[in-house]
Amino acid sequence: MTGGIDGVDPVSAIDPERVRGPLRTLYRELDARVAEHGPTCVVSGRCCRFEEYGHTLFLSAAEAALLVADAPPPARTPDDGATCPWQDRLGRCTARDARPLGCRVYFCDPNYEGEAGPITEEFLGRLRRLVESLGLPWGYARMHRHVRAAIEAGLLTAGPGDDPCRGAVERVAAVSGRESLDISPSGQ
Ligand code: SF4
Repeated sequence: MTGGIDGVDPVSAIDPERVRGPLRTLYRELDARVAEHGPTCVVSGRCCRFEEYGHTLFLSAAEAALLVADAPPPARTPDDGATCPWQDRLGRCTARDARPLGCRVYFCDPNYEGEAGPITEEFLGRLRRLVESLGLPWGYARMHRHVRAAIEAGLLTAGPGDDPCRGAVERVAAVSGRESLDISPSGQ
């Protein structure tokens, strides 16, 4: 996922009520498009541990506004972008219903390789046109910037500050004998 930053994150300036309906419709259509390709999720949870995975998640301000409004409070204390705060100690996404486009389109399934790019391009274009049609700022930025802005605006609490999820994953893996716990950001 790549993209630029259009200046200051305007997440606090967007009323989630204005974007909820059209954005959820777009997400449903995106989920259906992705499902046509049948990507498999091995539910490692690694792709939400951005630094470890070498992954960067960008999202628009409208997506961030909906995420902040509709997801439960972060499961862990937000960091400076190394991980997603909505990933719980077991590596699960606690914001599945409100997760942004980038989380919905990405799978590490090698059989899906090459599919995510065109789908992302199409739906990001639709999202951009939707945001423009509503007269809202684009505000495409890394997730932790939106999270930080939301906390500063009082829209989000910092979460309980659990231990890093990796430790929990390793503990569970040791018990189960598996390499990692089967939990995913986009698990089906
Ligand atoms: S799938 Fe969920 S936990 Fe993973 S990056 Fe997206 S919002 Fe965060």
